[in-house]
Amino acid sequence: MINLYGLEFHKLEHLLVDEGQKKFKAVQLYNWIYTKKAETFDEMSDISLAFRKTLSEKYSLSLPRVYTRQESSDGTIKLLLEMEDGMKVETVLMRYDYGNVACVSSQVGCSMGCTFCASGLLGKKRNLETHEMVGEVILLNKELEKENKGQRVTHVVLMGTGEPFDNYDNVMDFIRIINNQRGLSIGARHITVSTCGLPEQIRRYGREGLQTNLAISLHAPNNELRNQIMNINKVHPIEEVMDAVEEYTDYAGRRVTFEYLLLDHLNDTKECCEQLIKLVKPINGYVNLIPYNETNLCHYKRSSNNRVHYFADMLAKNGVNVTIRKEFGSDIDAACGQLRAKVELKNE
Ligand code: SAH
Repeated sequence: MINLYGLEFHKLEHLLVDEGQKKFKAVQLYNWIYTKKAETFDEMSDISLAFRKTLSEKYSLSLPRVYTRQESSDGTIKLLLEMEDGMKVETVLMRYDYGNVACVSSQVGCSMGCTFCASGLLGKKRNLETHEMVGEVILLNKELEKENKGQRVTHVVLMGTGEPFDNYDNVMDFIRIINNQRGLSIGARHITVSTCGLPEQIRRYGREGLQTNLAISLHAPNNELRNQIMNINKVHPIEEVMDAVEEYTDYAGRRVTFEYLLLDHLNDTKECCEQLIKLVKPINGYVNLIPYNETNLCHYKRSSNNRVHYFADMLAKNGVNVTIRKEFGSDIDAACGQLRAKVELKNE
């Protein structure tokens, strides 16, 4: 069965033509799925009975199952979703002043092996299909609708479990579906892909003709330190990543955000800050400092608030645009992959 949530608009048009249908039916179908939120083909009253029968025989509209749901006192909702094959992924909804942000997973587990991250602990099981990622956003939309009709996910960050650029094609289809005005209609500038730094895909992303954002998980400003905390750096060192980012910026005309996790007395020193400034200033990058979310699954310690502010001030004084990431859901296993790892380890 082909899941219709996985079909980018033009792919749906092609499929309809292959089925002997008119191309414009794609408009009708998208409307039923994403605007009228139909859950069955029976509801699609302006589609012929015969074609509805074909649809129900060959296509599906199934969504992942909500396996557990946690809600934080700050309103953050974290769902552990179960896919048809029993695999589980986390998806999170955060409420900022400017909108409702979905933090979407792109893989079951991750093979990048960052030593501070709970998501990579269990390795990568598989890529998520496009429809499974779309399902994450739809299920978070349902949570919002339960609270208040008309509320919806306004922003998407691919910062859940997985390396989005290690699942490139499915992620690009996902972006086109959620961005499509007939689909979930999430503005391109409200969509961010976060990567640990895969140069080839960074270049390719720049050529997609999308107005979406790119974030690079840098976390260390020199290769010696980055090799220690991010295995991928041994394959693609900082210079290679920065070259690709420069090409991306030139081509796509978009400024890049560098995420920088602060680990106590490891990468939060004055020298590290100076090195970071040298890296990001020439390309006018933003820096997003992330207070480390400690988990009993990894041994790193978070930097004190003083050290975080010292680091941020130094960047700002040197003319770097810097923000400190707001923390959500600290009472509900907020760290990436923490909830899934807890459930899976318990079941093993
Ligand atoms: N693979 C992608 C996207 C997933 S991780 C990437 O590397 O960017 C999303 C972000 O959360 C990354 O910047 C990651 O380094 C960070 N992160 C992972 N574990 C964390 C933790 N325990 N506390 C805070 N941030 C964490």
